[in-house]
Amino acid sequence: MTAAPLDFSALPLNEATLANLAQLGYHQMTPIQAASLPPALAGKDLIAQAQTGSGKTAAFALALLAGLNPRWFAVQALVLCPTRELADQVSAEIRRLARAQDNIKVVTLCGGVPLRGQRASLENGAHIVVGTPGRLMDHLERESLDLAGLKTLVLDEADRMLDMGFMDDIRTVVRQTPPTRQTLLFSATYPEGIASLAKDFLREPVHIEIKAQAAQVTIEQRFYEITRPQKFEAVAKLLLHFRPVNTLAFCNTKQQCKDLVDYLQQQGIDAQALYGELEQRERDQVLAQFANRSCAVLVATDVASRGLDINQLAAVINVDITPDPQVHVHRVGRTGRAGAAGLALSLATLNDMGRVGAIEVYQKMSSTWYGLDTLTPASTQPLLAPMVTLQILGGRKEKIRAGDVLGALTSAEGGPAYTREQIGKIQVTEFCTFVAVARDIAQAACAKLNAGRVKGKSVKVRLV
Ligand code: AMP
Repeated sequence: MTAAPLDFSALPLNEATLANLAQLGYHQMTPIQAASLPPALAGKDLIAQAQTGSGKTAAFALALLAGLNPRWFAVQALVLCPTRELADQVSAEIRRLARAQDNIKVVTLCGGVPLRGQRASLENGAHIVVGTPGRLMDHLERESLDLAGLKTLVLDEADRMLDMGFMDDIRTVVRQTPPTRQTLLFSATYPEGIASLAKDFLREPVHIEIKAQAAQVTIEQRFYEITRPQKFEAVAKLLLHFRPVNTLAFCNTKQQCKDLVDYLQQQGIDAQALYGELEQRERDQVLAQFANRSCAVLVATDVASRGLDINQLAAVINVDITPDPQVHVHRVGRTGRAGAAGLALSLATLNDMGRVGAIEVYQKMSSTWYGLDTLTPASTQPLLAPMVTLQILGGRKEKIRAGDVLGALTSAEGGPAYTREQIGKIQVTEFCTFVAVARDIAQAACAKLNAGRVKGKSVKVRLV
């Protein structure tokens, strides 16, 4: 029997990798995988235009893993990412996909954490490095990172890296890699800077373009005309009317984010603010809470929300209309991904009408207007997230793994044995671990972990 063209078994992958893919629930290739994996596995350079959510990470991860020699302790693959959040996600996906191979070490190198720990991880031997350009430059300058053995270089979300001003850093990093390497460039758009990078660093690349999925048509955009003093109340009304499971609300300034979060919390709505000046620790915490469903509404500025790779948001709210129509489309595109229907709600005052006009021209689409009086609370219940986050003060450094935490919570030792359904996402970071648990067991689960042991050691746990 011959394999269907979308079966992973049509690719030159080993049995263990195929079994792992099946176990991960990757039954068929996504379009970007079907288009890029055959040339990438054949060693060709690629320029692939693909969005987040398309399965692009696995598209390059499977290729770089296939070329890796686990018995050789040298950095053989390097993935450059625009942000730390994306780097963490890419590392996590590579680790998942590498489970089938023995002992592949993936090291993430991003700013915001001390260099020393990263240097120690590199000294212990890394096969794959994932990082942001600035921090990679630091390691190259300090000679703690050697790229002489590199086989595969990936530029992920290259357009975003250029937007963030990383062009020179990227060039410097790439120049320290062997010219014999394979280069895979992924980018959602293809601006001039990308063309110039490709010209300088790619060899006869195969071009792959996957048309943006029909996501746009499944996004319902609604505009509401309001007066300025009505703004916060209108946001609360929208949230209580639609009760989306997760919402990203955009404000144009940090102060607006803070003020809105204060207001929403007073109204019984689980909201958190994300803006540029947050410390890395606070930022990680907010992002973990939003990703694991213990925060229902994230109120963010555009800059802060970059690199936030949470797919399938139920709703996006434009609390402030942005002056840049391109930014509007970017914001709205965060909902309704991967075929799920999304809701994009925009609040506009009379003063914003010029901006709305520019958005209409840019989107080639006229706006549909609704009145605030069409909004009635779907229930009188507060809008609380279903989960609560516990923070364990200990992470990868202490060799804590998600399985250890799950084991501690599901065992009958030292308290009730919780079911898998009561436990959500477990995210192990360098220094701490975030565990989402159902709201009604949060206190008890926290007490149980504090009293018991994780990986044979007692741990400190707090409710976030
Ligand atoms: P990405 O675009 O790389 O961020 O991937 C989006 C999501 O799709 C991730 O959660 C992947 O784990 C998942 N994914 C990637 N490839 C497949 C596949 N072939 N089948 C099912 N899920 C996939």
